[in-house]
Formats: sequence, structure tokens, C-alpha cells
Amino acid sequence: MNKLAVLTSGGDAPGMNAAIRSVVRTAICEGLEVLGFHRGFDGVISQVYQQLDVRMVGGILEGGGTVLRTMRSPEFKTEAGMKKAVNNLERLGIDGLVVIGGDGSLRGADALNEIWSGQVVGVPASIDNDIGGCDLCIGFDTAVNTALESVDRIRDTATSHERLFIIEVMGRASGHIALSVGLAGGAEEILIPEVEYSVDNIVDRVKKARSKGKLHYIIILAEGAGKGFKLADQLGQKSGMDTRVAVLGHIQRGGTPTAFDRIIGAKMGTYAVKTLLEGKTGVCTGIRAGRRNLVALSEAAAGKPLSQENLELSQTLCI
Ligand code: ADP
Repeated sequence: MNKLAVLTSGGDAPGMNAAIRSVVRTAICEGLEVLGFHRGFDGVISQVYQQLDVRMVGGILEGGGTVLRTMRSPEFKTEAGMKKAVNNLERLGIDGLVVIGGDGSLRGADALNEIWSGQVVGVPASIDNDIGGCDLCIGFDTAVNTALESVDRIRDTATSHERLFIIEVMGRASGHIALSVGLAGGAEEILIPEVEYSVDNIVDRVKKARSKGKLHYIIILAEGAGKGFKLADQLGQKSGMDTRVAVLGHIQRGGTPTAFDRIIGAKMGTYAVKTLLEGKTGVCTGIRAGRRNLVALSEAAAGKPLSQENLELSQTLCI
């Protein structure tokens, strides 16, 4: 192993920069040369890259997003695009590639690993936290804290006006963000794609809460579990409560990464380089119970179940 490359792909996540910095500095400490591809797999196809050194990754820790930029590359999913990428990696003399990204990016890394003779290692970075083999993905903690700040603010208004608020959070097909935000924010209700719900049952619980003196009713709705405005219409009509919707949207994605995301970014970046130096390929370097945990890229991309303990706790505590 003489020369490695790093890229960030798919949805950006706060803490990706910490992982890039860690890959670059660890690699240089180990005497390796490092290239950074711009805009994910598209940079490999279009040959947009730069040589990275220790100083170039200075002062990037506190920034959200990714200094290497990211994008979704439909061309990389085609046979021709993948072949172009392989030819370019070979032409540049790259021995190992670190792919920092979400489940789609790790699927892409896995597909590349099947046809390229070099080594490929993934780093789980996704605000959705839907990657297997790690306790938490880079970016999740920041996204949850960002959403939580909004929930706390909205609760002030909800209480003062005695309103029902539906707060829609990100997460695509998974409820990890909604569950953590709901638990930490003391939501009355958490609606996630993994658990079926009935509008009539929610209305019953809203009425019960009102009769017990609750002044507000906060529902955290995962984006994959329904549409906030439609649900608000139904709940408003059936419960008689003044109902509002707040869609948090992209404010959850950016922003300064928390200390936690910077630290796991630093650790996972180092693990990725060490894993390459150990000669391994086709694996993702997560952290489980404080230790490096390697799983196959396909297993990482297959996702992670919700914490049943957190789910039950949120249901117990929202009385
Ligand atoms: P994320 O990594 O955030 O989940 P996407 O699902 O959009 O984001 O995936 C990012 C990129 O990974 C895609 O644009 C594509 O270039 C690549 N990719 C995703 N799935 C595959 C696949 N099955 N084969 C090859 N490349 C893929």
C-alpha cells in the first residue's frame, strides 16, 4: 500500500470533515500518499481530484458538510461508469479507497470492490443512522441535537397556545432520528415507519392527555411515516385541537458537528486507514461498544434495526 484515495458520497453529514482529516493525517503518518476525489464517485469518473497534505485538512473540523464536496452519481451505477472509475483508479496507481458516506455510497463501494483489484473500505456517515455494524453513524448526533433545539422552541409556543404540533423530521425510510428526537424532547407521540399507527388511536390519546391537563401535544413524525399536513388536517378535525405543522427539513443536515461526531469521525477515519494497511477490503469500519467493528460493506448497507429499548422507554414516559 503506497497510495490511497478518499471521497465523500451521497447525503452530506456533519463530521465528514473530521473523518477526511483523520484519513489524511493517519495515512501521511504511515508514509502513504493521499488523493482526495471531489464530488464522490463522480470525481473518480471525471478525474477531479487533488493531492492532500497535512496542512490542507487543517481548520476544517468545525465545518459541517464536506470539504471534498459530495453528489449522487447515477453514472457510477452503470457498467460503463464503473469501468471508467476502475480504469482511472488504476491509471492513478491507487491501491486503496476510503468511501465516507451513507448506505447507498457503501453499496457503491461494495460494487466497486467486486470488480477492482484495489482495496475498498467504507466509513459510515449518515444523519439517518441507518447503517449496520456501528452503534452510531457520523452526523446522527449533530442532526438529532439540531432538531431537538427546534422541538424545545416549538414546545414553548405549543404550550402557550395549547396547540397540537406535528414536527416532521428527516430519516428517509428509517425512524432513528424521530425516535431519538422524540425521546430526548419528551414528545407525546413518535410516529416512525417501523411501527404502524392509527389516526383514531392518536385522537383518543390526545383527548386523554387534554383531560389530564396537558397543555400541548407534540408529535414527532419521521418523514417516512406520513405527511405532516395531511395528518394535521385529520387530527385537527377529529380532536378539535388547534393544530400546526413544522417541517424541519434541511436545517437538520448542516451545521457545526458536535464533539461526539468529530470524535467518532476521527476514530473511524483512522480505523479505515489501519484496516487498509492490514490488507482488508470490502469492509466498513464502524464503532460498537467503543471499539472498532468491521462488517462486510453489504451488511453495513443493509441497515440497522431501531433500539427497542428506546422505543419502549419513549412510550412509557409520554404519559
Ligand atoms: P447515501 O450514500 O447518502 O445513502 P445515495 O443512496 O444517493 O446516498 O448513494 C450515493 C451514491 O452511491 C449514488 O449516487 C451512486 O453513485 C452510488 N451508489 C448507490 N447505490 C449503488 C449501487 N447499487 N451500485 C453502484 N453505485 C451505487
